[in-house]
Amino acid sequence: MEDCIFCKIIKKEVPADVVYEDDEIIAFKDIQPAAPIHILVIPKKHIASLAQLTKDDETLIGRIYTVINEVASKQGVKERGYRVIVNCGEDGGQEVGHLHFHLLAGKKLGEKIV
Ligand code: AMP
Ligand code: ZN
Repeated sequence: MEDCIFCKIIKKEVPADVVYEDDEIIAFKDIQPAAPIHILVIPKKHIASLAQLTKDDETLIGRIYTVINEVASKQGVKERGYRVIVNCGEDGGQEVGHLHFHLLAGKKLGEKIV
């Protein structure tokens, strides 16, 4: 997607602090961290939101959770715990239209909604 900021990060047209990368998935530090550790884990395939997933994406989404665990382990937070959030659509508070998983950790996270 030409004007997608995350696609630009994938293509290295925009810099990011990348902490993990493979053929299908990339993870980088959020530019406005909401916790001491705030990493975005995203598919390289441009999927606009969680609502746009198809059956073809099921394996990819499973792999994203494996990568989230690997990143959490590398960041040293696997034991203490972490939170994974996907904002979807307007009411969900999604601002960037490329599916992304927020990995938040490094402090006791408050304000549980559910
Ligand atoms: P969301 O509100 O779920 O769409 O989250 C979008 C997230 O992307 C926010 O937490 C932003 O701080 C983050 N973000 C936006 N642009 C960049 C960027 N260039 N590099 C890293 N994170 C970004
Ligand atoms: Zn994109």
